Amino acid sequence: MHDALIAIIFFLLGAAVGSFTNVLIWRLPRGESILFPGSHCPKCGAKIKFYDNIPIVSYIVLGGRCRNCGERISPRYPIVEAFMAVSYLLIYLLTDPANILLIIQLAVLLPVFFALSWIDFEHYVIPDELTLSIAVAGIVFAGISGGFKGVGFAIIAGGVGAILFLVISAVGKKVFRKQALGEGDILLIGAVGTLVGVKGVFLVIFLSALLGAIFGIPFVLISRRKKPNGDSAIPFGPFICAATLITLIWGDKIINWYLGLF
Ligand SMILES: [Zn+2]
Repeated sequence: MHDALIAIIFFLLGAAVGSFTNVLIWRLPRGESILFPGSHCPKCGAKIKFYDNIPIVSYIVLGGRCRNCGERISPRYPIVEAFMAVSYLLIYLLTDPANILLIIQLAVLLPVFFALSWIDFEHYVIPDELTLSIAVAGIVFAGISGGFKGVGFAIIAGGVGAILFLVISAVGKKVFRKQALGEGDILLIGAVGTLVGVKGVFLVIFLSALLGAIFGIPFVLISRRKKPNGDSAIPFGPFICAATLITLIWGDKIINWYLGLF
């Protein structure tokens, strides 16, 4: 049974995590520390007081403007906070409460994946700090559920994923004479491999390619978005993240269904 009070706690926790996700989205691509200094207005530099830094609520109270200088605050802040609050609520409502490992995995990974996807989409880079966090999380979770053996398999899975992507990238470069997968994508699939295991990493690669074809190609054709260097490009990080979430939640079911076809 789901408990209303716990549901509210998940929602509030998600809003707070969303606030931190905003910090990651803004500071990581600019090479700023994510801890110091505290929140400040990008225009006038005024420190934001704790009571003006309450997720979602403060933006509404302040009418979307800095209390000190009146500069507009990006609506990205309350939107990301609300999105993360609802996502955390859904983690609680849609998973089996007995599956605590999956709940913790999703709660830890969601803000990282969200920030990574946003930054890759906006700047075409995947910050190493985020990739490394995913790898560390993957190895810790593997240790919790499988001990030293689990950690070993997780590292092997990461290596398999990275090598597969390296090969796909090299073949793609030869065939299309274009860089389709960046170094950031190859490191990311390695990090994700530690989370999903060897079978899972094949599924992540397949699903991310499928999602990229379904959503990425039409997007690039319609938006005519181009990389700073002129290449038309699909940021691949968001598809890897989405594919990883699908694999974590439904991976076993999908793999068993697929194997049952033969
Ligand atoms: Zn200001």
